[in-house]
Amino acid sequence: MPGEMTGAPRARHVSPNFITEIIDADLRDGRHATVRTRFPPEPNGYLHIGHAKSICLNFGLALDYGGECNLRFDDTNPETESVEYVDAIKRDVEWLGFRWARELYASDYFERLYACAVQLIRDGHAYVDSLSEDEIGRYRGTVAQPGTPSPYRDRSVEENLDLFARMRRGEFPNGAHVLRAKIDLASPNMKLRDPVLYRIVHARHYHTGNAWCLYPLYDFAHPLSDAFEGITHSLCTLEFENNRAIYDWLLERLRGTCGIPASPRPHQYEFARLTLDYTVLSKRKLIRLVEDGHVDGWDDPRMPTLSGLRRRGVSPEAIREFANRIGVARTNSRVDPGALEAAIRDDLNLRAPRVLAVLRPLAVTITNFPEGRVERLTAPYWPHDVPREGARPLPFARHLYIERDDFMEHPPRGFHRLTPGGRVRLRHAYVIRCDEIVRDAAGEIVELRCSYDPSTLGRAPDGGAVRGTIHWVAAAYAVPMTARLYDRLFSVADPERGDGDFTAHLNPASRTVVEGFVEPSVLDDAPDVRYQFERLGYFWRDPADSKPDRLVFNRIVTLRDSWAKMHRGG
Ligand code: ATP
Ligand code: MG
Repeated sequence: MPGEMTGAPRARHVSPNFITEIIDADLRDGRHATVRTRFPPEPNGYLHIGHAKSICLNFGLALDYGGECNLRFDDTNPETESVEYVDAIKRDVEWLGFRWARELYASDYFERLYACAVQLIRDGHAYVDSLSEDEIGRYRGTVAQPGTPSPYRDRSVEENLDLFARMRRGEFPNGAHVLRAKIDLASPNMKLRDPVLYRIVHARHYHTGNAWCLYPLYDFAHPLSDAFEGITHSLCTLEFENNRAIYDWLLERLRGTCGIPASPRPHQYEFARLTLDYTVLSKRKLIRLVEDGHVDGWDDPRMPTLSGLRRRGVSPEAIREFANRIGVARTNSRVDPGALEAAIRDDLNLRAPRVLAVLRPLAVTITNFPEGRVERLTAPYWPHDVPREGARPLPFARHLYIERDDFMEHPPRGFHRLTPGGRVRLRHAYVIRCDEIVRDAAGEIVELRCSYDPSTLGRAPDGGAVRGTIHWVAAAYAVPMTARLYDRLFSVADPERGDGDFTAHLNPASRTVVEGFVEPSVLDDAPDVRYQFERLGYFWRDPADSKPDRLVFNRIVTLRDSWAKMHRGG
């Protein structure tokens, strides 16, 4: 069954690009009758936002063309792969909204791949080399200089077959021999200088156990897996451009043998990988962040992993929209995280009810509002930009909290919030005036004594409107909460540049934790509601740490790209 999309269906999942042009031509000219793609993660880490680009492309094309997309675990390195990663990858692909046609493992092909290798040896296209890894590197030459043949390059077919069989049986230690394709040691494409196809690794594989000690390399396993599955368009990132020649070489040599159809055969196409500023998108580096404790885990909301973004509160729709906006092309470029944040905001703007919360509370006493009295105001969830129904009760009382930043004793020009003797409107409530500042022994402001104007509910005060409106909560009714405010994980755009350790560029302020209050209406909501805390950003309850009696909110994204302004002097 072809994949199906959860959530709102869209006519087209992938905007027209150079790959859709290729597919259109292939279908029109009869080179392929259908479209079959695959998403081929190696289960050696969690998926990140870069993988989402590839997932949206591969699954999206299958949906758009009524074809199929397989999930194939490219699991040919026993030392780094695990079931934990397989499970996490499946969870993340499903969460993104995609269903695979078939769940497949390259390691399930080991026997077939071995047969293909034997066929290559028989046909004189592969040989067992007994040089060390270092020597193979040196013999390969340079771009300017052709390679030197290994002294083992002209072994007989019989000797090669015998050695290869013994490599499989486990007669040799790691590194004693490798199987190499016999292609062209003078090729300007270094990848074609007799690439290694198999190596000996005495290690337990999470999927095949101890059945093998001989493992195929990507360049061998990938094209053949594609061919076994009848993949029509094999999409990968640009750094594999030079590997395409091996891909084609192998499929040309093996077509019509080993159960590989003579035609049609898969073709590889490369597109630009996603590189996001202020983060790293490489599983190896993400593993370091986890293992060295720079973050709390793969799903730390600061991580660019899909599990991190999910925990932070980002929806799959926002990620798919982001993938769609950045598009698919053949030029590598860096993407500003502002583009991802914009997609997240656009998604939340349409679905997040607006409520009031205070992150850094400052006590306000309304001196002319009686102690013990409460007034239940009614506040719409959707005050402006989003026309929708719905309102909640909002208690107003003598003791309130406002945001500390919303009061300034010595305001600069243009400050329209609360000042000594000044007036401000409390959102959905009354206009208040600050009459007196209360300080503690250290001189710190601990309370504002204010008066409210009872005639100003829903109307301007006599003597002219006030300029500012601020958020607030009623102290006795507000719910205490911990809020986690996230910033970029790294403080430089390209943490991988230069030869220093990328972790030196971690942003020490990537997470700020504050103790604040949120209005009581949230207690009636499902725990997965995403809110806009007015003027503060979009938030939701941390799915792991928030408890009904101990609320913990993650800020998903701020309301505006204030970061760009702050850090680029805009
Ligand atoms: P990493 O360097 O993070 O380990 P990878 O390419 O080794 O990435 P794989 O699990 O082999 O990870 O990737 C699975 C698929 O996802 C591949 O087709 C790969 O090209 C694609 N992919 C990985 N990273 C990105 C990225 N940043 N942008 C787009 N596609 C990506
Ligand atoms: Mg890889």
